[in-house]
Amino acid sequence: MIKVQKFGGTSLSDEQSRRNVLRHISRERASGAGLVVVVSAMGRRGEPYATDTLLDWIEQNGRSLPDREKDMLLSCGELISAATLCSLLNREGIPSVALTGGQAGIVTDGRFGSARIAKVDPSRVREYLADDKVVVVAGFQGATEDGEITTLGRGGSDTSAAALGAALEAEVVDIYTDVEGILTADPRLVGEARPLAVVSYEEICNMAYNGAKVIHPRAVEIAMRAGVPIRVRSTFSDGEGTLVTRADLAREKSGWIDRTVTGLAHVRGVTQLAVRTPEDDPDAQLRVFRAMAVNGISVDFINVTPAGILYTVGEPDAELAVRLLREMGFEPRTQARCAKVAVIGGGMNGEPGVMAKIVEALTERNIPILQSADSNATIWVLVSEEDMAPALQALHAAFALHRTP
Ligand code: ADP
Ligand code: MG
Repeated sequence: MIKVQKFGGTSLSDEQSRRNVLRHISRERASGAGLVVVVSAMGRRGEPYATDTLLDWIEQNGRSLPDREKDMLLSCGELISAATLCSLLNREGIPSVALTGGQAGIVTDGRFGSARIAKVDPSRVREYLADDKVVVVAGFQGATEDGEITTLGRGGSDTSAAALGAALEAEVVDIYTDVEGILTADPRLVGEARPLAVVSYEEICNMAYNGAKVIHPRAVEIAMRAGVPIRVRSTFSDGEGTLVTRADLAREKSGWIDRTVTGLAHVRGVTQLAVRTPEDDPDAQLRVFRAMAVNGISVDFINVTPAGILYTVGEPDAELAVRLLREMGFEPRTQARCAKVAVIGGGMNGEPGVMAKIVEALTERNIPILQSADSNATIWVLVSEEDMAPALQALHAAFALHRTP
């Protein structure tokens, strides 16, 4: 039986947290599991070996660093973490070995900075497991077929853990972090948020794609395809956390038949653009979307009417989008600092009254809805950034998410 454990940055940042990490490793080892432990870089921005600290270092000292060498530098945070944990385990009398992502068999394409995992060859990891060692793997990184070091982008350690779990046919991938599991909303904004006991891969993928940073959506997809369950749980307690599994199993285990709303998520830093297009020029709208696409600007909340187009872009793209529109002769109206609030639930498909409840909850608090959109499992509303936290709180109360079992 093999288990993969992943520990995030805050779980490794100081001695006290690392003691908790050791406790979880010892417990699982005592239960007889072969353990693969994936680690992130230690700590958050400002702490010496954190990924954001390394990025700041590059910003100040490495502006002319090519992408290949940038990835070499960025991969160091996890290497330090892996070696540190290996030392702590050995001191406790737990035999262990530390591996880089490449050494652990994670083979990626050559897109430095946001590499994709092409395959995982777990043979070396299996050898160490057979030798009764805890295998500590540096997360967030892999290597190309030629041995070049690559990094996987934000949340990459979750992806490393899921990919190793899939390749090793692990019993479970445990993602240890600084909260009690996947909550009904980001606890930093909604004090009432509650941990979910069981969710389906689809539900959490949806939450993750809509901004819930607790787990990376790519990791969920990899685990889903391999049929490996994930558990998101706290490093700092012995809670069971949230089990992420197939929808039918999730339904069975949690007892709900058709949960309308699972949770809320949000993305800030969105700019809304309104473009009037002449009705006698049917090509104008096509020209606008083509210009965005050609320039790599992804668009959202798209609303096309004969009179014009309303859509949103991410803040970093806003300036370029406006410039392109002006060059085409349009005078867009912009609303900066908007936020996208998502109401997510597998069971809202066709359910009447969900949108009415959202509108009611927000109008009661005088929160203007700037735009809305929906799919079979999600309803989105665009609000101004200052209304974001109150909107999340209002929706959390309206759907009684604090009563989530
Ligand atoms: P790690 O370093 O362990 O990977 P992250 O910061 O990536 O940790 O993810 C954990 C954080 O995700 C939490 O501290 C929490 O603020 C945030 N978060 C956002 N949405 C949610 C949610 N729905 N449930 C739990 N945590 C969430
Ligand atoms: Mg994370």
